[in-house]
Amino acid sequence: MEDNVFLKIIRKEIPKEFRYEDDDILAFDDIHPLAPVHILIIPKKPIVSIETMDGEDGAIIGKMFLVARNIARDLKISEKGYKLLIRVGKDGGQEVSHLHLHLLGGARLSENIQPVE
Ligand code: AMP
Repeated sequence: MEDNVFLKIIRKEIPKEFRYEDDDILAFDDIHPLAPVHILIIPKKPIVSIETMDGEDGAIIGKMFLVARNIARDLKISEKGYKLLIRVGKDGGQEVSHLHLHLLGGARLSENIQPVE
């Protein structure tokens, strides 16, 4: 697995204020927010994507979703709702080769998903 920005954040080489941290997971604000709330939830284990996860990683993925749900509750956006997004590979638009869950909310968000020409 090649080095990338999220591995540097995990190693604390890039200063970052964390919304959440435990032994398995980190959460922090996206550097280019697409919504009033745009937080990334990542595993500390180096997992490239949903495509490369193994059987044991299911528990970590489940925990990532629960962390996102809890952050959404803390930020009081749960009642109105939010989006949880994971991009996978090139066609999925994944830019960073380390698994990450986007928590997007705080406003009504468009459904503008369409094929690129
Ligand atoms: P994706 O396109 O799903 O791979 O999302 C990658 C996300 O990582 C993008 O939304 C970027 O804005 C975000 N990102 C890249 N570098 C950083 C960084 N140093 N800190 C926080 N978010 C970042």
